[in-house]
Amino acid sequence: MIVSTNPATGSELARYAPHSEKEMEAVLAGAVAAQADWRQRTVTERAPLLERLADVLRQNKDAYARLITAEMGKPIGQAEAEIEKCAVTCEYYAEHAAAHLADRPVDSDAAESAVVYDPLGVVLAVMPWNYPFWQFIRCAAPALAAGNAVVLKHANNVPRCALAVEQAIREAGAPEGLCRTLLVEVDRVAGIVADPRIAAVSLTGSTGVGAIVASQAAAALKKQVLELGGSDPFVVLADADVAQAAATAVTSRFVNAGQSCVNAKRFIVEQAVAKEFAAAFTRGAEALIVGDPTDHTTNIGPMARADLRETLHDQVERSIAAGAELKLGGRPVDGPGWFYPPTVLDHVTPGMPAFDEETFGPVAAITRVATAEEAIALANRTEYGLAATLWTGELSRARTLIRRLDAGAVFVNGMVASDARLPFGGIKKSGYGRELGAEGIREFVNVKTIWIG
Ligand code: NAP
Repeated sequence: MIVSTNPATGSELARYAPHSEKEMEAVLAGAVAAQADWRQRTVTERAPLLERLADVLRQNKDAYARLITAEMGKPIGQAEAEIEKCAVTCEYYAEHAAAHLADRPVDSDAAESAVVYDPLGVVLAVMPWNYPFWQFIRCAAPALAAGNAVVLKHANNVPRCALAVEQAIREAGAPEGLCRTLLVEVDRVAGIVADPRIAAVSLTGSTGVGAIVASQAAAALKKQVLELGGSDPFVVLADADVAQAAATAVTSRFVNAGQSCVNAKRFIVEQAVAKEFAAAFTRGAEALIVGDPTDHTTNIGPMARADLRETLHDQVERSIAAGAELKLGGRPVDGPGWFYPPTVLDHVTPGMPAFDEETFGPVAAITRVATAEEAIALANRTEYGLAATLWTGELSRARTLIRRLDAGAVFVNGMVASDARLPFGGIKKSGYGRELGAEGIREFVNVKTIWIG
């Protein structure tokens, strides 16, 4: 059974029988049929679907936000912001898809030659629970605009969000079958990936699961985009505005209870300002309100599942055993729900779990370094490469250091966040391919060369 549980209380919200083989068959056949028609329309004809979807999302913002909060524990204000971001992204692609996918004439030996962007077919989206609307919309909006159909296999702790986002797209007027949710257990994903009706796979999730699904897609020679884990560095150099850096660091680490791929996770600080940064950061973390996620004043809700909290706490205990200094938090909150308090570990070094592993929850690791050189070396000393933040008062130095940071994005003097206008994605074990921006909409297309003699 697929069970939806409120992580703030531990109480069951709903349960669903997984779709049968027959139901799955109908979803896949329906998606193929819908896409065959959808691809005949021009991008300009497809774009209004996304405008209407933005409207549907905004009209139902409160209800969708409550659903997100109930199913995965995000504080309600952050859930509302998630829906707004989905709407903005739909509008972005409604406005810009045609330009991003415009035919591109190229001079060659031909009388006429050009590059055009045709859709690939049905895209399978395997998605995580942490932003249950956003992760899917950022994949689906450009994929649909490009003329594909999308089948969603969502994380099984958010089945109600999965069904709600499917319904929103239907309400927006998507042709029957074009975008469907499949409620299935993970052991059926391999079969779906291999199904000849699936043209490509987009997976957002952990690095371990990414490797499994990537190998399945590779065996079937299917295009894939992988948005995986991260252990983003947040580098504070001695010439930075430390107070501003610390205030931003608190938001960057603790938004969504620390359960975001681009939360800053490792705070690498030059010795000269480390004491000041650690004190300000710890004060900021301590001031966060942990509690009922339906309350607008709450900053940190529960973690999404009991097992995620256990994994996080084990990482904290192992880091302390290895020599990290616990400054704040460090113990699961007693009582119902899977709450974990803001936790700050100082004097973290490579070799400790808080440095080497992705910590997917409200745990910050502070590492003190002697020089900017050492900061860059440690920032890159990770198997991940999603994003990085750099704080410095000297922009000319920042421009050089940006190019030396091994990450899919580098933000200077600001917080890492995805933005529909800019490509998003990682390198190393954070995955490959890009979502958002012009690059994102060109992932699930056939870049077709036309040559006319
Ligand atoms: P996850 O456990 O990897 O699950 C992701 C999706 O894969 C879920 O739908 C899950 O379904 C499915 N899945 C799990 N095992 C599978 C298998 N053996 N075969 C096929 N599918 C399988 O990740 P999560 O806990 O939901 O999300 C947290 C992770 O996602 C973190 O590592 C985070 O950094 C990463 N993430 C990355 C980005 C990015 O943009 N780079 C964004 C958000 C999150 P079930 O729920 O049924 O297990």
